[in-house]
Amino acid sequence: MYGLTESDLDIQRRAAAFADELIPFEVTAELNAGELPDGAAEKHAARARELGLCATNMPAELGGGGCSTLQQVLVQEQAGRVTNALGWVVSTPPSWLPSVATADQLDRYVRPTVRGERGECYAITEEGAGSDVAAIEATARRDGDSYLLSGTKWHVTSFNTADYTFFQAVLDGGPHHGEHAMFFVDLPSPGVSVVRTPAYAHTTSHHHPIVSFDNVRVPAGNLVGAEGDGMSFAYEWFRFERLMVAARCLGAAGRLTEEMTAFAGERQAGGRPISEYGLVGAMLADSLTELFAARALTYETARSIDWGADVKVSHAQCSMAKLYCSEMAGRVADRAVQVFGGRGYMRENVAERFYRELRVERIWEGTSEVQRAIIAGQMVKRGPAALA
Ligand SMILES: Cc1cc2nc3c(=O)[nH]c(=O)nc-3n(C[C@H](O)[C@H](O)[C@H](O)COP(=O)(O)OP(=O)(O)OC[C@H]3O[C@@H](n4cnc5c(N)ncnc54)[C@H](O)[C@@H]3O)c2cc1C
Repeated sequence: MYGLTESDLDIQRRAAAFADELIPFEVTAELNAGELPDGAAEKHAARARELGLCATNMPAELGGGGCSTLQQVLVQEQAGRVTNALGWVVSTPPSWLPSVATADQLDRYVRPTVRGERGECYAITEEGAGSDVAAIEATARRDGDSYLLSGTKWHVTSFNTADYTFFQAVLDGGPHHGEHAMFFVDLPSPGVSVVRTPAYAHTTSHHHPIVSFDNVRVPAGNLVGAEGDGMSFAYEWFRFERLMVAARCLGAAGRLTEEMTAFAGERQAGGRPISEYGLVGAMLADSLTELFAARALTYETARSIDWGADVKVSHAQCSMAKLYCSEMAGRVADRAVQVFGGRGYMRENVAERFYRELRVERIWEGTSEVQRAIIAGQMVKRGPAALA
């Protein structure tokens, strides 16, 4: 199916088997604020690396998987079958980084991240700048051989586990005054502190705190790329991550479709399996139909990137995949809760967990409204036929 090659199927099988190993830990995580017993998360991370499922997007010469975009999608799809972010051990450093990192940055950040020795987080969003990244107010000021970074960042995912963060700021002074730049900031660093750690709808060991950067001094060598490059990294990151959000949503919807179909075939009401009631059958049928459409869209988008599609076309197609898959998965999770009835409202049930967890897929990496704006903009510029 889907014209997958033997090597595509091989990595897909490895990822699926690994997801099956993680699934039994979900309820423990759910009932323990996302945490697993001592050492379990580390074991999972080591196993993911041993199976060749990490850094699939990194070139082989840096120790990465050197996988095609389609293979990266296949791996993330399987990671998406698991709740409570347990699948995040299947990690991928930013795909744009090797092409702009200096030799020193490759040694200090990229290679250790590929090896799983260091982990990153992203400090970009601010209280007044989310969808509109250009509106950030954090500043970076050159001071001799260093920069001084200041600002308060919101929703910094995995700050509690990260060894360094990417920090995006507006340059204050110098030839690129007012333009954006991105920096590596080691964690901990003097001047970096957690303002507070809010609770979110999902239950994961990865926190999303509000973090203050107060005159944090970093060496000039921590500038990523050149002054003024900051926004271009954000766009490239969004393209990659939106496609991977789509992939993980396929995995979630696939798992939910399996689980609700099995339940509907077994659960008796009024003397027959509930799957025999047309209203329940319709929920199953709609879910699988939408999943099939979403998967075809996502795989085709990945393939066209592998074939070297125009980057603007890929940008719009990644937005379409992210938009459709995240909304599809939300509908599937809603139906799954309904099919499970009262059981679907229990936190020990996968449908309940995904019902909460999938909501953010329509918000982060660009909201559904932002994706629609991107798609519509490209339709007007290039014509619908160029995009689909
Ligand atoms: C759990 C979680 C984890 C996150 N992790 C990170 C992280 O690690 N690093 C990081 O930097 N950020 C992170 N984010 C931030 C995330 O990317 C933003 O929340 C998201 O981009 C939306 O920005 P906002 O919350 O400021 O909403 P806003 O931009 O204020 O949007 C509010 C509403 O207005 C709509 N809207 C805004 N602009 C437009 C427009 N032009 N057209 C139409 N509608 C519009 C939006 O669609 C939305 O409905 C995370 C968020 C969450 C919830």
